[in-house]
Amino acid sequence: MSNGKNRVWRLAKRPEGTASDNDLHLVEEAMPEPGEGEALIRTVYLSLDPTNRIWMSDMDQYMEPVKIGDPMRGIIAGQVVKSNTPKMKEGELVMGVGHWADYILTDGRGLSVIGKPGQVPLAELFGVCSAVGPTAYFGLLHLCEPKPGETVVVTAAAGAVGSVVGQIAKMKGCHAVGIAGSDEKCQWIKDECGFDAAINYKTEDVGVMLDRYCPEGVDILFENVGGSIMDEVLARMNDFSRIALCGLISQYNATEPVPGPYNFKQILMHRIKVQGFITSDFAKDYPKAMAELTQWMGEGKLKFRLDIDEGLENALTSLNKLYDGSNQGKLMVQVSEVAAA
Ligand code: NDP
Repeated sequence: MSNGKNRVWRLAKRPEGTASDNDLHLVEEAMPEPGEGEALIRTVYLSLDPTNRIWMSDMDQYMEPVKIGDPMRGIIAGQVVKSNTPKMKEGELVMGVGHWADYILTDGRGLSVIGKPGQVPLAELFGVCSAVGPTAYFGLLHLCEPKPGETVVVTAAAGAVGSVVGQIAKMKGCHAVGIAGSDEKCQWIKDECGFDAAINYKTEDVGVMLDRYCPEGVDILFENVGGSIMDEVLARMNDFSRIALCGLISQYNATEPVPGPYNFKQILMHRIKVQGFITSDFAKDYPKAMAELTQWMGEGKLKFRLDIDEGLENALTSLNKLYDGSNQGKLMVQVSEVAAA
C-alpha cells in the first residue's frame, strides 16, 4: 500500500478458542509520519508464531498482552522507507518486533538492521534465524546439553522449531525421534532432516512407538506441544534426563482449564530437570547462535521449509494453520516486496 493509507490489524476483543475475524479487525488508517528519532518501516514479511495467540489473551504470560484496540504485535522483517534516526538508513533491511501492519513507526527499539537488499537472503534469514533457529539452538544446547548417543525426542517435530532441534541433535551425535501429525511430515523429517525415527501421533500409538524407537529410554525431551503426547514421553524419561519446555501449543486455544500432566511424578522419580524458556532469555548469546545457524544453512547442513502466504489481509487465516497443523514449515505472510537499494 502506498496510497497514503496503512492497513493495521487491531485486537478488537480477546478470542475464546480459535481467533477469528470477530476478534481482530483489519483497519485502514492514515500513513504514519516518522518524528524526530523515528523511522518508517514497510513490512516485507510478517512471521506467524504460536505465541501470537498467547499475546491476544490476557493469561499470565512472559510479555504484556496486546491491549484491546492496539495493533497486533508480531515479528517482522521490513525495509526502512524514511528515517529520522541514525540507528537505521533508508533502504536498509530490519527485523524484530513490530506489528501486523503494512507500515510501522519505530524508534529502533526491538528492531535490528540486518543489511541492504541483495546482501542477505531475507526470507531464509528471517524465517530460520529470527526466532525459530535460536529457539531450537538455545533450548537444546544450552538447557539440555546433549551428549553423543543420547536419545532426544522432539514434539511438533516437522515444525519450524522442531525440525531444527532434530537436526542439531543429529549434529551432536544423538538419536533423534520426532513426533508429528502426518505421514508426509514424518517422511520429511526422516528423509530430509535426518531424524532416526518419526511417529505420526494421529495414526499411531505414541507409547508403543516410543518403546520401539527409544529402547534405551529418553534422555532429552524438547517439548513443543504438551498434553497427552508429553505424558507418553514423560513415562519413558531416564534418570537425570532433561526437558526443554519450549511450547504447549495443544493448549493455546483452550477454553477450559487444562489438566496437568498425569505423569508429573516422573520428574521426582527420575530426577528430571525441567526448564521453561523464552528465546529472548538468551539475547546475549544471539550472535554466536546466528553465526552457527547461518553457517549450517550455508553448508546445506540445516534443512528447512518456508510456508509463505501472500497478503497482510490473510494473516489471521494463515495464523490458524499453526493450530490445525496445515503449515508446512516456518509460517509467514509476504506483505510487500523488497525494493532495490
Ligand atoms: P510449528 O511450525 O511447529 O507449527 C505448529 C505445529 O504444532 C503445527 O504444524 C502442528 O504440527 C503442531 N500442533 C498444533 N496443534 C497441535 C496439537 N493440539 N497437538 C499436537 N501438535 C499440534 O510452529 P513453531 O515452530 O513456530 O512453534 C513450535 C512450538 O515452539 C510452539 O509451541 C511455540 O509456542 C514454541 N515456541 C517457543 C518459543 C520460545 O521462546 N519458548 C519461540 C518460538 C516457538 P503437526 O502437524 O505435527 O500436529
